[in-house]
Amino acid sequence: MAKAKNLSIGVDLGGTKIAVGLCRDGEILKKVIFPTHAAAGFDGVISVILGAIEKVMEGQNHKDILGLGIGSAGQINAATGEVIYSPNLNWRNAPLGNTIAKAIDLKVQVLNDVRAATLAELKFGNGKGLDSFANVFVGTGIGSGFVINGKLINGATNSAGEVGHTCLDPEGPLCGCGNKGCLEAFASGTGMENYVKAELKKGRKSIIKDLVENRIDHVRGPIIAKAAEQGDELALAAIERVGFYLGISLANIHTMLNPEIILLGGGMMALKKYFMPILLSTMQTHILPVARQNRELVGEARFENDAVLLGGSAIFA
Ligand SMILES: [Zn+2]
Repeated sequence: MAKAKNLSIGVDLGGTKIAVGLCRDGEILKKVIFPTHAAAGFDGVISVILGAIEKVMEGQNHKDILGLGIGSAGQINAATGEVIYSPNLNWRNAPLGNTIAKAIDLKVQVLNDVRAATLAELKFGNGKGLDSFANVFVGTGIGSGFVINGKLINGATNSAGEVGHTCLDPEGPLCGCGNKGCLEAFASGTGMENYVKAELKKGRKSIIKDLVENRIDHVRGPIIAKAAEQGDELALAAIERVGFYLGISLANIHTMLNPEIILLGGGMMALKKYFMPILLSTMQTHILPVARQNRELVGEARFENDAVLLGGSAIFA
């Protein structure tokens, strides 16, 4: 009898790109990437996903594939495979899992993208073998996933781990979720940019203003990074502010859940040399000694761009 091939398919469904990979045990054997064209609506996006799946399955027998897992931006009902709400895709109550399953004759499951990335860390990455850890992704937004007792936590309504929307200041800056003072509004790439824009509008001196030729609305993360490289005081303050608020939130996670470690990932890690010192010192201030105990509290996620795709594949690995 032929040996089982243990293949599975992972899908990273984002607002701008869709990546689909044929995987085995955390290794991507074949991968394709297409633009999402979210403006084409649900049916349009589904046909892009199905086309990509067809490409990676070329020459493969269905029987060798254990299933297909999708990591999607937005609020997901993991039990039904429904996308409850995804601002990036502009979907509400979209039957993603069922629609794909009907079309391809494979088992299909859907997870929130950062929860999928957390599963990738648990099965193949820097959370492997750990009983408990948190995975916090700091990019244009802040997402996260928690593993407790060796299992990814979904929560009663699939929103466990939304640390980006925990409130640090009810009078703080407006968040994308509509509330004020969420961690994401302070410490995401968008939060950092908004802070710099507001300071420049108040007249604060910075070379960032020259770098964007006085067009304050053009301030972006890479420009702030460039200014920080040149020792610009506002750029460094903006990045350190990210570290400060992350430090408070990560201390809160350690206090509430006492995980073995918190893994950090996402595009903002490009600035870690500026924000990690203040992040760690702020954590030390706010964490209980019993949770601290001279151990490493923060680490880095193993996977970067492929984390969500591998996490999708990990559902069936
Ligand atoms: Zn929020």
